[in-house]
Parts: sequence; C-alpha cells; structure tokens
Amino acid sequence: MQTYRMYRNGEWVAPLSGAWMESVNPFTGQAWARIPKGNRDDADRTVEAAHAAFVSGPWPAMTASERGALLRRLGDLVAAKAEPLARIEVTDNGKLLAEMLAQLRYCPQWFYYFGGLADKIEGAVLPLDKKGYFNFTRWEPLGVVAAIAPWNSPLLLTIWKLAPALAAGNTVVIKPSEFTSASALELMHLVAEAGFPPGVVNVVTGLGQDVGGALVDHPLVRKIAFTGSDATGRLINERAARSFKKVSLELGGKSPNIVFADADLDDALNGVISGIFAATGQTCLAGSRLLLQDSIHDAFVERLVALAATARMGDPMSLETQVGPITTRPQYDKVLAYIEIAKKEGARLRLGGGPAKRPECGSGWFVEPTIFTEVDNRMRIAQEEVFGPVLSVIPFKDEDDALRLANDVRFGLASGVWTRDIGRAIRMAEGIAAGTVWINTYRAVSFMSPFGGYKDSGLGRENGQNAIYDYLQAKSVWINTGSKTANPFIMR
Ligand code: NAD
Repeated sequence: MQTYRMYRNGEWVAPLSGAWMESVNPFTGQAWARIPKGNRDDADRTVEAAHAAFVSGPWPAMTASERGALLRRLGDLVAAKAEPLARIEVTDNGKLLAEMLAQLRYCPQWFYYFGGLADKIEGAVLPLDKKGYFNFTRWEPLGVVAAIAPWNSPLLLTIWKLAPALAAGNTVVIKPSEFTSASALELMHLVAEAGFPPGVVNVVTGLGQDVGGALVDHPLVRKIAFTGSDATGRLINERAARSFKKVSLELGGKSPNIVFADADLDDALNGVISGIFAATGQTCLAGSRLLLQDSIHDAFVERLVALAATARMGDPMSLETQVGPITTRPQYDKVLAYIEIAKKEGARLRLGGGPAKRPECGSGWFVEPTIFTEVDNRMRIAQEEVFGPVLSVIPFKDEDDALRLANDVRFGLASGVWTRDIGRAIRMAEGIAAGTVWINTYRAVSFMSPFGGYKDSGLGRENGQNAIYDYLQAKSVWINTGSKTANPFIMR
C-alpha cells in the first residue's frame, strides 16, 4: 500500500484529524493506496496558504511572461512523466492504459497553450465619451480558485482548470475525487520541481461534503471550477452564490448521436461504438442516446450488436483490453440499477444487460456492453445519465423528428450527427441545443476549442482562449487629465 500526503504551501502534510481513506483498484477490488481524509480544518488551512501566496511573496511579483514560462516547464515535466502518471490513473480508476497514455501525453498542451496565453491578456484604452479623462482597463486575477474534480478523468479535468487559473495569476486549491486522489498528488511533485512558489498550487483530499463543502463556503475562495454530477453542481452553485463566488460547472450529459440513412455507415458504426463504450461509458460526453433513421434501423442495429459483442474486456493495464471496469462500487451498482429500470420500462435488451462474468474480468466491477432498442425518449433510460456502457437506441423519421428528440432532454453537453448532406449537417448544428456538435465524428476535444454545456449540463466553458476570462476580472481605471474637479453640488 502506498501512503500519500496532502500538498499545502509546498509541504507534504498528514490530515489534521489523523483519518485516512483507502483508494481501491477497480480491476482487483483491492485497496492500493492510503489517502488523507482531510476535514474542514485542513481545507481552511489550505485556503489560507493559497491566499497568502496570492497576496504576498514571489507569485504576485512575477510578470505574466514568467508565469507562462513556469507553466511551460510544468508541461515539459508532465510530458516526461506521462507514462507513470497514466499507470497511476489506470490503477486508481480502471480506465484503459491505451486511453490514459494518450490522455496524459496530451495534457502538457494545456500548460503550453495557457502558458503562452498568460502574457497576451491585454486591457484596452477606451475612447471615452467624456473630455478630460483617460480610461484604461486591466484584467486581474480573482484570488484563490478551488478546482473540484471528478473521478472519471482525474488529471485531465484538473489540468483544464489549473492551467488557465495559473496563467491568469490566481492561486489554486485542488480537491480531487475521494475515489481518485493519487494522480493530483503525484502532479504536485512536478509542480514543486517546476519551481512554483509555495502555496500557489495545493491539494486537499477528503470527502466531497467535508472538504469540497468547506472550499465552497470559504470566504477567501473567489471561484469554484467544478466538474462532476449535476446534483452536486446545483448544490455548489446555490452555496457559492451566498458569498458571490464565480462558478463554472461542467456537469453531466445525455448526448444524442444521430445517424441519418445517407451517412457513411461504416464510420458511423465506429463513432457510435466509441461514443458509448470508450471509457466504459464513464464520460460526460458519452453518446448514450443513438437516434437512428427508420430506414436503416434494423440493419444498423444488427451490425452494432455484432461489433459491440466483440469487445475484449479485462485488465485495463493491458493494451489488448477494449472495455475496462466501472471505476467505483457505487457507480457499478448504479449502472446495474439503470439496466433493470430499462428492462422494466419495456426497452428491448439486445446485448449485455448485467455484470460481466468472463474469467478475464477477475473480481473487478465489470458490466457487459449493453444495448437497448425500442427505447422511447420519455423513458428514464433515455432521460437520465447512466455514466456506464449502456446505449439506448431510439428511431426517428426525418430531420425535424431527429431534432425534436435530440433536444427533448434536460441536458445539453454534446451531440453527434452522421450525414453526407452538408446542408443538413449545418441545419442540425444550428438546431441542437448542446455545447458541442460533432459532424461525422465523435469525442474530439482540444485545448483550443470551447467545451461546456447548455441547459443542465453546466455553466461556462473550459478550453479555448476565452476560458481564461473565467479566471479574471476587469478593472476600469479613470485618470483626470486636467479638468477641474467640479463643485459637487452642481450636477451637469
Ligand atoms: P460528483 O458530483 O459526485 O463529485 C465531483 C467532485 O465533487 C468530487 O471531487 C466530490 O468529492 C466533490 N463533491 C461532492 N459533493 C460535494 C459538495 N457538497 N461540495 C463540494 N464538492 C463536492 O461527480 P463524480 O461522480 O465524481 O463524477 C461523475 C459526474 O461528473 C458525471 O455526472 C459526469 O457527467 C460528470 N462529468 C462532467 C464532465 C464535463 O466536462 N461536463 C466531465 C467529466 C465528468
């Protein structure tokens, strides 16, 4: 068992209460690491350290160019350690090594991109409507940012917040998921090696309602950057409002993947499969509703079931494995419960439909890739986020019908459209109420392109140049260039 400590003010610290929690490998079902079970006092001390680093010491004295250089150095260090970091993620959350290697090798780009952006944030000189004044604007950091991350892509989703927050000049307290805290703590070795001053980046671990709640309530935290479930997002939004914190929320989805009869059906088939079964369906952007045009429905479903049935399950550390375990025991139970709900609702089970009992799955939390047809869009299986390898197939007649079904859901994170008709592709892209529309592809993301949700899928956007403004505030500076200060009792 590996024992981790929290990272506060440049030091490795044990939890104040002396309590620890275990992190479990989802493939073996065995605990592999001891993680500090921090409490409110740990969270408060960490925020105080981050605040002190924001207001005094080397960090606020640095130029934006110097901050950018530090971020790029951190990117280089993450690139050099991509493989060991990927292996920690696999051990902790059970995602496939192949995916995590690709993800960790991509992560440095966020540090390079936002590091490059750090010294390109420019204020403006405004052409005022008043004579005798000079007015300019400055973009200033907010203060302490709390970055609260989920368990499904722990480091990637932390870095999406960390890179723009630091580029903007804030200090950061990271709160990883209690199920997957190890990788954020490992990252702190690299933060220290890169030369970030103490207190600029910190990690506090523990349960969501304790440590996460303390960060949301703390008056010195000025922004919450959150990725997680919509239920927690709602709670955080309400509580953060009490102290007027900025909030960005990346929440869940129930994304439609829409296949028209005129599509390249070979491509669509691959896109639909990876859209739902990659990462064992545990991605916010999973294409969990397949909308299929009537005329190709039966033939496409046949091919879909045949291809999904070939998925190799097993040890996520093996590069041969195609579908890994569910990350946590509660999530495993939740996925199985939704499968039962779908059966009761009258959806027709075409593949899977329960725990995977294959010998290569050992004692891990595996669920068979599952496909339901004859799903009505009003069923719970079509409306609620399962966050597992469960696909609902819903037939549609024409474009209007597809659009109506695509939008008839409270989420709006992502969507896919498969068609060779460019006019239709553009009409669908305009009509779908979601933060991302993929045409003839699925699951593409980039540090350059905004990502976030419409409707209940969240607030704000991560990635892209504008994301940095979520970590900045505008200041207007007025200078009197010579006009006499007027008699205050005469308003003109
Ligand atoms: P979760 O909401 O249970 O937990 C997310 C984080 O919030 C964890 O660190 C948790 O400890 C913390 N937390 C829990 N209660 C809290 C509270 N009261 N106050 C403050 N913090 C609290 O989510 P999860 O189960 O870890 O992650 C899965 C969810 O994340 C899914 O719904 C998925 O769709 C969503 N997700 C969204 C995106 C996106 O970019 N939109 C990406 C990945 C995952």
